[in-house]
Amino acid sequence: MNRSILDYLEQSKEKFPNKTAFADVDTSCTYSELWERSKKIGSELSRYLKPGQPVPVFMDKSVDTICLFLGIVYAGCFYVLLDTKQPKARLHQILNTLDADVLITSKDYDGDREGLLFDKPVYDLQELEKGEIDEKKLAEIRNHALDIDPLYGIFTSGSTGTPKGVVVSHRSVIDFITYFTDIFGITSEDVIGNQAPWDFDVSVKDIYSTLMVGATMEIIPKQYFSFPVRLIDFLCERKVTTLIWAVSALCIITTLKGFEYKIPSRIGKVMFSGEVMPVKHLNLWRQAIPDAMYVNLYGPTEITCNCTYYIIEREFLPGEVLPIGKAFPNEKVFLLDETDNLVTEPGKQGEICVSGTTLALGYFNNTEQTRQAFVQNPCNPFYPEIIYRTGDLGLYNETEELCFLSRKDFQIKHLGHRIELGEIENAMDQVEQIIRSCCLYDDKSSKILLYYEGAVDKRQIQKRLREILPAYMLPNRYYAVDKLPLTKNGKIDRKMLMALYKGEN
Ligand code: AMP
Repeated sequence: MNRSILDYLEQSKEKFPNKTAFADVDTSCTYSELWERSKKIGSELSRYLKPGQPVPVFMDKSVDTICLFLGIVYAGCFYVLLDTKQPKARLHQILNTLDADVLITSKDYDGDREGLLFDKPVYDLQELEKGEIDEKKLAEIRNHALDIDPLYGIFTSGSTGTPKGVVVSHRSVIDFITYFTDIFGITSEDVIGNQAPWDFDVSVKDIYSTLMVGATMEIIPKQYFSFPVRLIDFLCERKVTTLIWAVSALCIITTLKGFEYKIPSRIGKVMFSGEVMPVKHLNLWRQAIPDAMYVNLYGPTEITCNCTYYIIEREFLPGEVLPIGKAFPNEKVFLLDETDNLVTEPGKQGEICVSGTTLALGYFNNTEQTRQAFVQNPCNPFYPEIIYRTGDLGLYNETEELCFLSRKDFQIKHLGHRIELGEIENAMDQVEQIIRSCCLYDDKSSKILLYYEGAVDKRQIQKRLREILPAYMLPNRYYAVDKLPLTKNGKIDRKMLMALYKGEN
């Protein structure tokens, strides 16, 4: 029985010592090298740190960074990757919340170290690798480790303005990744092309699927997502078979007509999450690589990556809703209505709730918000059963597949009607030449705002939307933009659009 993700590293190292485990554009490491480097780092770190502590990492994603992550885990601690490009103020909020004893960066980091305002020791990865492996110390740490110990922390934006640090245990990752690799047939033959930033939990699937089955992970530089030719060349040259990407990243290839250049035909698995996948873009992918498996994955960071999946096995037309499907094994995903009653009948909406081993441990150093989000299952008055309330609305379709409706906060009351802004975006998917769109609501003036990419004028859009939506759902303002802004996690940046709107109105 494995209780640490290090068990998987060690097993893959036994089976495939000389195989490439992780590679970036500059370098790569085999399973043996990864194992040795991380044990050295872990031994050195254990001289300064007690197990259980958070270790902030101030580095970009790379082969070095994965060695460091696993080194931190060998020291019995957990890692928190901090985006080096994020605003200083946000970084300070995170560092204050963590109150960590050390911060680790790399000698290659050429940013402003003083500006970090971290008044405790800052180590370079390279210094940590100089010593020898201390087998005795590592064994002692390992013997005392529990599977519920934290493995990583990921900061997500908090509605109060302070980012929340979701802390996830080894057990949650082991549970989820075991089913994930098994259901989608991810094996040692696979080459996973990593798109997601490593402070975003989509990357957890890339990293731990790789380690668990002894696959290879190719780290794709962020800049390649602005140059589809380079991106597609990279996918072909590195023989990538598996993409577990944000929706926007897949849409970039289709929007920039990447498949007209070349088809990365070794790709056999295309999985996406984070937002609603526009069917129009999905269909372009399916036309280009028809034999691949396509999967819609759903879930928030707080439940460890995803809690439901839907393998696309039939044609969908633009405007049709792609289900988010069914729960992964060992997870309970259910709907609660406004009075906390279980929703089971098709067509009735409720809040998507989740329970099971994959629930995060909570928000670091934030008992109050942990208590609000991770609550007792209101349907179980008998013994403690913690559930996570996602804040997302869903419903079952006629064939009992779960469908995502919208965030609770994107449901509005307009002219007395309840409207899901997502439904308008979905209708926009049926307007020819629309690339992507985003709907917002201005409460003050009671206006539905539509931002869109695509060479179509307002009149054409209105004409088509009138055929699909009731009059009260038609947008009141239309804004064509060259490119919809994206968050660094690759989702449409609604906050930025709203700020833009407010600045102009
Ligand atoms: P994050 O914690 O950043 O991964 O964001 C999770 C949120 O993204 C969910 O609560 C949903 O609102 C949204 N989301 C994730 N996957 C999907 C999906 N397949 N379809 C629609 N929305 C999604």
